[in-house]
Amino acid sequence: MWVTLDSAGSSVDTTVFHEDGIISGYRHPCSSATDCIISLFQLTNETVNIWTHFLPTWYFLWKLLTVILTRDVWHDSFTWPLVVFLVSCCIYPLASSCAHTFSTMSTRARHICFFFDYGALSLYSLGSAITYSAYVIPDNWVNSLFHQYYVPVAVANTIICTALACYSRLGFPFLQYNRNTIIRFPEYQFPKFAKFLRIVAFAYPYLFDNIPLFYRVFLCVGDGCTDNNANVLHHTHIALAFLTAFLYTTHLPERLAPGSFDYIGHSHQLFHVCGIISTHFQMEAVEQDMVTRRQWLLTHSSPVAFADTLGAAMLCVALSLGIIFLFSLPLVWSGNQGKIHGDKSPQSRAAAKGCWGH
Ligand SMILES: [Zn+2]
Repeated sequence: MWVTLDSAGSSVDTTVFHEDGIISGYRHPCSSATDCIISLFQLTNETVNIWTHFLPTWYFLWKLLTVILTRDVWHDSFTWPLVVFLVSCCIYPLASSCAHTFSTMSTRARHICFFFDYGALSLYSLGSAITYSAYVIPDNWVNSLFHQYYVPVAVANTIICTALACYSRLGFPFLQYNRNTIIRFPEYQFPKFAKFLRIVAFAYPYLFDNIPLFYRVFLCVGDGCTDNNANVLHHTHIALAFLTAFLYTTHLPERLAPGSFDYIGHSHQLFHVCGIISTHFQMEAVEQDMVTRRQWLLTHSSPVAFADTLGAAMLCVALSLGIIFLFSLPLVWSGNQGKIHGDKSPQSRAAAKGCWGH
């Protein structure tokens, strides 16, 4: 039986790391980096999770390179929102596949891996908002007060939600967890509350970012509603996005037949696949709007500014990295203590990594 040690050295039940309805196929909870990479080619309950995000990374990278090579991105600022969005579409599946690959190196590695995963998802959320502001917002909302504050609010949401998602794992760094003390451990003690916080952290910015799109395709009637041939792609993206959220929250189908979908077909794999297909349709819809509405938007909307596109994305990356650093620091610092004290025993090394087996 394997148990993990928290920073204080007391044992913690590892079943909190076991997903509902998934009984077998877990990797060793203290794998080496090499073991993690080798596991890509072995069938575990993470293998499909990893590949369903690693392969799409290359698809979106190919799409990004196509845009860079075929459009005048260096001089045409109208293309910048699409570039930012595509960069975020490359980063979020890559961060996720890395998190799923290396999360079993140690308890602490698992937390740090998923902090990066949350930061990448927030960047993707901001990338969506930036393209919606530039290409998707309906004609009758262009240059409105909402339009002027939409991207700045999206940046603020990104920062708040990255911090909230990171908080959902361990609480506040130094205040609720540090080298020797863990006052409160949301993911261990209240796994359902931790997951609820995480759902809020991703659902709220998604819903905010989609306000102009939902208004355009579901509520707007009459002139200025931008009813064009991109709408069917937007509808497909929205339907798949809600299916993605449904799979994440319900843990179906494995909840109905625990143990039957351990390796192939469990909800997290389906969540990855639906999310990626949703992102594909979102990308197609955004590009369609960009091409179809280009002349009208260039005439009627404010010019695309660096601050609202590349600048906002860079600010988000810098602040998210700062938040991830802040939340990771107590874990990294703690992980070095065994080395600092010169204790080379297997027990101390395992404890320093945040794991221990017997
Ligand atoms: Zn995942």
